[in-house]
Amino acid sequence: MLDQRLGLPSASSIERLKLCPGSVRQSRGMPEFRTPEEIEWAESGDRIHLWLRAPGFIDLVTEELDIAKACWEQRERLILDLYPNWEFIDEKIIKTEHRMWLRRESGAHYFSGQTDWLAYMGDHTAIIADYKTNRGEQDAPDSNMQLRTLAVLAANEKDWKVEQVYVSIIQPLAGQPEVCVYKRSELIAAFRQIGEIIAATNKDDAPLNPGHKQCRYCPARINCPALAAVVERVARTNTADLAGMPAPQFEKALDDCRAAETKIKLVKAKAKELLKIDPSFLPTYFLDGGKAVREVTDPGGLFAFLVGKGWIDRELFIGKCVGVGIGDLTNALRERNEWTEAETKENLKEAEAFIDLKPQDRSLKKRKEAANV
Ligand code: SF4
Repeated sequence: MLDQRLGLPSASSIERLKLCPGSVRQSRGMPEFRTPEEIEWAESGDRIHLWLRAPGFIDLVTEELDIAKACWEQRERLILDLYPNWEFIDEKIIKTEHRMWLRRESGAHYFSGQTDWLAYMGDHTAIIADYKTNRGEQDAPDSNMQLRTLAVLAANEKDWKVEQVYVSIIQPLAGQPEVCVYKRSELIAAFRQIGEIIAATNKDDAPLNPGHKQCRYCPARINCPALAAVVERVARTNTADLAGMPAPQFEKALDDCRAAETKIKLVKAKAKELLKIDPSFLPTYFLDGGKAVREVTDPGGLFAFLVGKGWIDRELFIGKCVGVGIGDLTNALRERNEWTEAETKENLKEAEAFIDLKPQDRSLKKRKEAANV
């Protein structure tokens, strides 16, 4: 398939380039390797993006269609929150799946980025919406390097006449979108920052700097010596020493574990891939699971059927068989009543008698790092 990025660095990898400048050199010529789950998410994401670009062009399964419609609705609502008279604004140009380029004075391309949805309002304002179709944790728009880079590319495309660029991540499975605005001075500072990041990657001695965030999708993790050294360090950790270890050192050991997991995941994914082709390839391992799970697809119809049969009543059905996700409920109420996020929160307070806190299993999580502005 044609690489639209022409093999050059792009906005989607800018965070990695910033954290690990040597990754450009290290990944050169490396094939992309993704786990079967990552391939599945990516293919589903591509289908949803295609629907959002041309809704009649592709049929989606119900779950994908729900996400696609939610993306569309959240984007429309966001636009109307910014510009209530949106419909009547004549001087707007909308571009979908639009790739923008930075070029050297010679005209040679050196960097690009693609927006999912971009609107220019005349020459002075741009709005960018980036769809994320999974639940994966994202940096907030004001500290998200990819969005900041797309804002710079939009300003550059308009010969820097743009005064402000609104950016937002539309990720329905994570809640409502947040918006951040970059003013001209911030765009110029961000342009410089991107220039410095790209320049650092071009140095012959650009350093390798392993870490979970940058290694997670890096093509070089297949054979990167710096990541391999981290895995070795984890293997050598003496767990008997951990309790007496100063906190910064222990935290560093945990950071190493998170980076090493990106490599471990890769080894396991390769095993899965090979076992799928030949189940006898690894005599002591096999692929478990993958069985279809029975699922209720029409709860309303099922309820009517069961009540009609006299097998269940409303209390038992709702009390024992139905779970309502607070996120789904919030989205449904917003849509149904055309409430803002604040209105939904406020109105839901009236229903607090029916909502309670449920203790969750505790998992080990890393606090978000400070905004990398
Ligand atoms: S695997 Fe990690 S350390 Fe190695 S080049 Fe990629 S991002 Fe850098």
